[in-house]
Amino acid sequence: MRTDVLGVGFDNVTLDEAVDRALALLEEDGPHLAATPNPEIVQCAGRDPEFAGILSRADLVLPDGVGVIHAANILGRPLRARVPGIDFASALMGRIAGTGKRLYLLGAAPGVAEQAAANLQAAYPGLVVCGTHDGYFKEDGPVIDAIRKAGADLVFVCLGAPKQEKWIAAHGAATGARLLVGLGGSLDVFAGKVDRAPEGFQRLGLEWLYRLIREPSRIGRMAKLPLFLVSAAGARLRGS
Ligand code: UDP
Repeated sequence: MRTDVLGVGFDNVTLDEAVDRALALLEEDGPHLAATPNPEIVQCAGRDPEFAGILSRADLVLPDGVGVIHAANILGRPLRARVPGIDFASALMGRIAGTGKRLYLLGAAPGVAEQAAANLQAAYPGLVVCGTHDGYFKEDGPVIDAIRKAGADLVFVCLGAPKQEKWIAAHGAATGARLLVGLGGSLDVFAGKVDRAPEGFQRLGLEWLYRLIREPSRIGRMAKLPLFLVSAAGARLRGS
């Protein structure tokens, strides 16, 4: 049973449980999809039935943003933990390092995935990054072939939502990978192009504020967040 937050069902899991589930999915034939929606993505799914359908069929749906946690509280069905995509990805890499499982990094501007691979292999000794590709390709076929030829078990697909989830739904099976995770701008963080909020901001659930200070152009996207909580309050009042 998933916890519904404004039309998207979330797995009510801790970070450790999410990683355990991902490791179990890596033992089964794929493809499996993991998504890490934040409020903006939930709102996007509300306007895009195809995307909402893909999320409802995903194997793992993790609450990335603190806004999802607040909305779940307002709705009266609290989620146990926020599971940021980047923390989930990091913990998962820590667990597969040294096991021989093969990770492919897809997305971001040319050069970013390669830099992320170098940083991650240094951070997680024994991690096998079996290939990388930037996210600005015109044809899907060569990218699918590259992932398949690399023998990837796990793919981090970082094309932004909903593009990455739609790409996984359409092409995941052809890649031969067992688990594909939509991770937005994570490769930029792993490559050191964008820094993560300091721990104080993370602890207070204010990562969004740090991001806004660093990238003020996101204000238009973020201005919709209060509306998200208002929608949750409205849904609660209507009893839905
Ligand atoms: N991106 C990409 N291909 C595209 C569009 C976007 O690879 O066609 C990348 C972009 O370079 C960035 C990521 O997708 O690395 C999206 O980052 P954003 O912060 O917008 O995603 P979020 O984490 O908010 O979902």
